[in-house]
Amino acid sequence: MSSYCLAARAHPLLQAHHDFEHGFPVEDDDRLFEYLLLEINQAGLSWLTVIKKRESLKAAYADFSIEKVASFNARDIARLMNDAGVIRHRLKIEAVVLNAQKICEIASRHLSFKAWLDEHHPLAREEWVQLFRRNFRFVGNEIVGEFLTGTGYLPSAHARSCPIYARVLATHPPWTQREAVPTSGRGKSDQDKIQT
Ligand SMILES: [Zn+2]
Repeated sequence: MSSYCLAARAHPLLQAHHDFEHGFPVEDDDRLFEYLLLEINQAGLSWLTVIKKRESLKAAYADFSIEKVASFNARDIARLMNDAGVIRHRLKIEAVVLNAQKICEIASRHLSFKAWLDEHHPLAREEWVQLFRRNFRFVGNEIVGEFLTGTGYLPSAHARSCPIYARVLATHPPWTQREAVPTSGRGKSDQDKIQT
């Protein structure tokens, strides 16, 4: 069983994320942005730390509205740096705002962020990482891999022996529709996540 399937049993918030979100396809752009934001915020920390802060992150980052976060100014960034409910890491905060601006640009040219992802799918994991690095900030190998696994573009979100595996398959995530390159899935050590 993949390590996240097992590790998720450690906390009800992880279990809920594992059972109802992880690996399921995502249609909504703000929801996709939320997952990218969470992955960026996780770098160097545990996934549980980020999941526990999800509600306060949501409040601080305008309900994960891409458009609203894209308009954040220096005062908003200062507010976030003083908010104990968020991950107070300036590079992460600035990256999230810049990424929101970039997603707005992408959405204006490609209909939506989701459509842009679909246009590029399938890519090998390394190619996705290169694409994200060309377009976004703070998007290392692990962050991009987890984001795309969690949203169904790359396989291996769940072990075949996990009860959620069949439920994910039934929703026809992108990786089942066109072949993609396997990835290792969530659950590597936190150290692997420290990158920009
Ligand atoms: Zn699982």
